[in-house]
Amino acid sequence: MLVLVLVANPAEPDLNDLLAARVAREVGGTLNWLARSIACEIEAPKSSEALSIARELVGGHPIDCVLVPKKHRRKKLLLADMDSTMINEECIDKLADAHGVGPQVAAITDKAMRGEINFTDALNERVMLLKGVSRKTIDLVRRLHITFAPGGRALVHTMKAHGAHTALVSGGFDEFAKPIADRIGFDEFAANRLEFEGDALSGKVASLRINPAGKLNELISLASARGMDISQTLAVGDGANDLPMIDSAGLGVALHAKPGVAARAPVRIDHGDLTSLLYLQGYNGEEFVL
Ligand SMILES: [Mg+2]
Repeated sequence: MLVLVLVANPAEPDLNDLLAARVAREVGGTLNWLARSIACEIEAPKSSEALSIARELVGGHPIDCVLVPKKHRRKKLLLADMDSTMINEECIDKLADAHGVGPQVAAITDKAMRGEINFTDALNERVMLLKGVSRKTIDLVRRLHITFAPGGRALVHTMKAHGAHTALVSGGFDEFAKPIADRIGFDEFAANRLEFEGDALSGKVASLRINPAGKLNELISLASARGMDISQTLAVGDGANDLPMIDSAGLGVALHAKPGVAARAPVRIDHGDLTSLLYLQGYNGEEFVL
């Protein structure tokens, strides 16, 4: 059985009763509100065109329409990308700004996120440009220039409260991923390692484990270590390097992704924040753990 979920951004709660009722009537299913003006679900839509009908009726409203299976709806494992997913920035771009090589690094990041250049080459090239950055600068950039994406703590803490295991998987670096994972409340993190010469970056990557295939490996190994079927997993990210894990997860979501990435993902959230992922799993607003 399928469930059609409509989700708005809590900062712009644009889902009105009239629209929700109209969609429910047109697709033929039972309407339940998950959070007034923000999210609702329509159980067992009768029309096989439910998704396209909903999107047509929603029109220009900033509301996401997603069809999910009811089976295994509440996931037991969350894998989340860090940069531009759990935080609003790309850490490597912020480091580059602090080091005076912002435009050069941002141009490479942009191409890599669109999948236009190989992930490994892009990372090596950018890290080379960061040679000489001190540990103190890294710490300063993390504390002053990184902001958390809305709904991240609610996503992690609500899933944990319901028995899920949560992991931050970043193609970035331990120096950012560890403290950010701790702050948000993830159970664990996986990221790459930068090489230092004394107190400053050498310009080389010391360990590159979390590339696109590495993220997929994390998904598979964390699920199998817990004896879980892959259908019980949720993966979210915004970049081309997230697509292998997004494609394989039970619920794979491209969040505010570049058009080329969003078009290739099973589920896209273009408007909602990270709490959209809770609504997709059937949690209502009152169940959120903040
Ligand atoms: Mg990202």
